[in-house]
Amino acid sequence: PTAQTEYDPSKKTIVVLGSGWASTSFLKAVDTDEYNVVVVSPRNYFLFTPLLPSCTVGTVDVRSIVEPIRFITRHKSRAVKVYEAECTDIDPDNKVITIVDNSDVKGTKDESTISYDYLVIGVGAQNQTFGIKGVQEYGCFLKEVWDAQKIRNKLMDCIETAGFPGQSPEEVERLLHMTIVGGGPSGIEYAAELHDFLMDDLSTWYPDLAGKIKITLVEALPNVLPAFSKQLIDYTESTFKEQNITIHTKTMVKEVREKEIVVQRPDGSNESIPYGLLVWATGNTSRPLIRDLMNKFPESQTARRGLAVDDWLRLEGSESIFALGDATATKYAPTAQVAAQQGKYLARLFHQMTVRDQLESQVATVPEEERAKKERKLQKAKDLKPFQYSHQGSLCYVGSDKAIADLPFGPGSVSSGGVMTYAFWRSAYISNLFSGRNRSLVITDWLKKNILGRDISRE
Ligand code: FAD
Ligand code: NAD
Repeated sequence: PTAQTEYDPSKKTIVVLGSGWASTSFLKAVDTDEYNVVVVSPRNYFLFTPLLPSCTVGTVDVRSIVEPIRFITRHKSRAVKVYEAECTDIDPDNKVITIVDNSDVKGTKDESTISYDYLVIGVGAQNQTFGIKGVQEYGCFLKEVWDAQKIRNKLMDCIETAGFPGQSPEEVERLLHMTIVGGGPSGIEYAAELHDFLMDDLSTWYPDLAGKIKITLVEALPNVLPAFSKQLIDYTESTFKEQNITIHTKTMVKEVREKEIVVQRPDGSNESIPYGLLVWATGNTSRPLIRDLMNKFPESQTARRGLAVDDWLRLEGSESIFALGDATATKYAPTAQVAAQQGKYLARLFHQMTVRDQLESQVATVPEEERAKKERKLQKAKDLKPFQYSHQGSLCYVGSDKAIADLPFGPGSVSSGGVMTYAFWRSAYISNLFSGRNRSLVITDWLKKNILGRDISRE
């Protein structure tokens, strides 16, 4: 059904920031009969990040893993207002946010404000650079659709440029050196996808160059994937060895230059490594909007990693602001799994808050004989259960149709790696895609890749 009604002054207004895992999961579950709902996000779609590494080489098309936020809100019983805009300021005292339209069409940045009764912050995080010189300028990140497109373009540029006649062997070697910084799941999955592209497609289309393409991953810690079990770390490292992907552990990138990175080796010495493409995947840091908000609560917002919230996802220091996902600093890892469960939980909490508020106003007015019953109900409604995370396991693709999985199983956990795990990886991701439309698009992309190979044209 198409939602007809919009703003209802008798209902409280929830303003939701973001259209990522946390906010989208909240939007899907929130009851719009109980609240006016407004969404503000600079991108008008949800992005299924687990398949983003596959887009960097064309295994999956970016359009297959995005879903317009309006496709999601159209299923609500009352209309949800969606603004494609960036929230640039939160004023907790007056319960007002400032939003800016960053559209290219007008060439001007229009500003507006929105009032809220409740604010739900799901703006995620931005890429961590640790302030290392040159990263922003020369590195490619892997977080958004345009990042994957940029990587794909730059990769093909490096290969085509390496084929230009009359270049020195050193320059060809540099152009064909694909370097990844960060051995977390993002860096590992990108390296794995790049390896598959090299083996399946580039070797056919660039027979003279493919053999010279080198993939190197640099990780500051003693091993990659610190969140996985030892057995799966060993499995990943040996699979990478078989795939000719070099891993430099205990190696810290100190500076990024236009054509080389400067690394510190385990013995403390510095070394320059020339590169053609540099993918920077060293995790998350808070967005400026979040840091500004934290500065407005100097006593309660002291966590370094993001917004501090209580067990009900309420911002420490505020009754009307809630925060979830990567924007927060909690005991959980910054994952889609956590963000999605928090979004669903928060929608339930908002429903319970409505029930509580309704009972509260009824208790005072009901006849004496019904009051005790209503009060019992009210007590129950006031008992808001805290958020509890249920870990479904961790998965990571490692290349050559192999994946690893750490799955919680009873009191312990099960580690598995290999081709069967890859089949599980595929089915888990397909079943987690939000819409049937996206599911069919991704399955079609996988089939297309198997039959026709990946596309090597630049965008
Ligand atoms: P996001 O999903 O990042 O969404 C943030 C939203 O806020 C976006 O819509 C953004 O446009 C919007 N926004 C930003 N600034 C503003 C602003 N100022 N005002 C309003 N809106 C704003 N996790 C897993 O569990 N499993 C995986 O397999 C997995 N794979 C991943 C692969 C990659 C390549 C990456 C980068 C991450 C992966 N993750 C995975 C982690 C997961 O994507 C994040 O933990 C998750 O996206 C966090 O959800 P979120 O809603 O907090 O933030
Ligand atoms: P991460 O924080 O998991 O890993 C970053 C890695 O970069 C760390 O191992 C760190 O030691 C290394 N590093 C930092 N600075 C460095 C430097 N100067 N030189 C060399 N190495 C350096 O980051 P991520 O991989 O982007 O993941 C972010 C979040 O998203 C995590 O919670 C992760 O679990 C989640 N994620 C999950 C999946 C999956 O489940 N398949 C995929 C991608 C991301």
